Amino acid sequence: MKLTRRDFLKTSTATALASGVGLTAQAQASETPTVKRWYKGNMHQHCQWSDGDPMPEYAIDWYKSRGYDFVCPSDHNIFQTNDLRFNSSGTKPKMTAEMKAAFKGETSLWKPMQCDKISNKLTQKVVDQTRERFGADSVRVKEAGGLTFVRMKSFDELVEQFAEDGKFLLIPGFEQTGSCPDKRAVHMNFIGVRKTFKYIKKDDPVDTLRETLAAGRELYADSPFLFTANHPMWKFYDISPTALIANPDVRFFELNNNGIHRDYAARDDAWEPEHFWDAVNAFRALADVPLLLGMGSDDRHGYPDGPATKGWTVARAAKLDWPSLLEAFNAGDFYSSNGLDFAEINFDGKTLSVKINVKEEGDYRIEFKGVKKNFDKTRKTVAVAAEEKKSADRLIETFSPEIGAVLETVEGTEGSYTLKADDLYVRAKIVKLPRAESQEWRTGPAAWTQPYRS
Ligand SMILES: [Zn+2]
Ligand SMILES: [Zn+2]
Repeated sequence: MKLTRRDFLKTSTATALASGVGLTAQAQASETPTVKRWYKGNMHQHCQWSDGDPMPEYAIDWYKSRGYDFVCPSDHNIFQTNDLRFNSSGTKPKMTAEMKAAFKGETSLWKPMQCDKISNKLTQKVVDQTRERFGADSVRVKEAGGLTFVRMKSFDELVEQFAEDGKFLLIPGFEQTGSCPDKRAVHMNFIGVRKTFKYIKKDDPVDTLRETLAAGRELYADSPFLFTANHPMWKFYDISPTALIANPDVRFFELNNNGIHRDYAARDDAWEPEHFWDAVNAFRALADVPLLLGMGSDDRHGYPDGPATKGWTVARAAKLDWPSLLEAFNAGDFYSSNGLDFAEINFDGKTLSVKINVKEEGDYRIEFKGVKKNFDKTRKTVAVAAEEKKSADRLIETFSPEIGAVLETVEGTEGSYTLKADDLYVRAKIVKLPRAESQEWRTGPAAWTQPYRS
């Protein structure tokens, strides 16, 4: 995105007033309406409405009880409406008229439990786990045609149960899921919408992304939404930087999707997520089109006990509501994380200043990364052989390591970088030392600002 000086001045007053993380609701109310604070969220997760492990209320509660401010239950190709239905992603029972009659007057999704006729993740354990947390009456079950059906709560019921003004927000949305030829999984989140549409399958991810976004703009003309290109590396370099260079209208992608485990460094000459990001933005900056912004998400399917330590996105907004968050996302006023947090991020049109929100003792480092105007623009096509049955051989474009190089390093918790005449943009990454070798993502706990240019 291009944060012009004028745009910046508009937001800088608010920034100067904001005290970052931890501002109480009371303090917020006593300030002017322009006071902004950080809100933490996850906008990519799954539950029994599609292929996630837990019941919907268990999934929402999992985030709420771990200090998240907002979530989007983004199930695959389905929105959690009140309409009576029996099919969900991956579960399609054969329903006779007699079976359907047992559900007369009922609403929402009734999903059959796992048995010899049904293969899915809805087990007695899932039901028991939910009843244990929310009471015996919290889950409704019905027998029909030899199957046991469990009722899923709709989005509106989840809002009723969990949403709290200024404290916790549920955002509607879904993950548009499908694949292109060559086993390329092109998944995209529509966030802020309540209607789904049929997956648009094209030969090339470039066209799938373009046409899906165009279809969304038409369908959701009346409701502003966020569109994100999900887990581009999964399963095997499925969406290339080239696809996002060619689609500057795609403003958001998952920089870190920690629900998907794989070693991104499968090949030294291919890209990891950060290099992917900078490759796209080097060419976008050169073309003077909006830069790609990076989101952090869990893509959570399993909900274990214990703390939440995976991906999140933190947006700076005046209020915890969808219009305010959307404004923050569109302005690039957010960061993504897989373990650390910023206390401050400020850009005055020339200088990017950041401060780490230190939660535990240790040594911290700030890396200012960017791209120089005269960067090496060579794009090489290399062949990568399929690693597993689920992937296919690929021809991928690779980019110079100059792209996204470290421009300056600060050892400590506060630092700034002033753009030089030959910089295309700068962004900051914070890490805790020593860098942990993470199986989920080799970079270990870190957080990333968006790219800024003058
Ligand atoms: Zn996906
Ligand atoms: Zn997903």
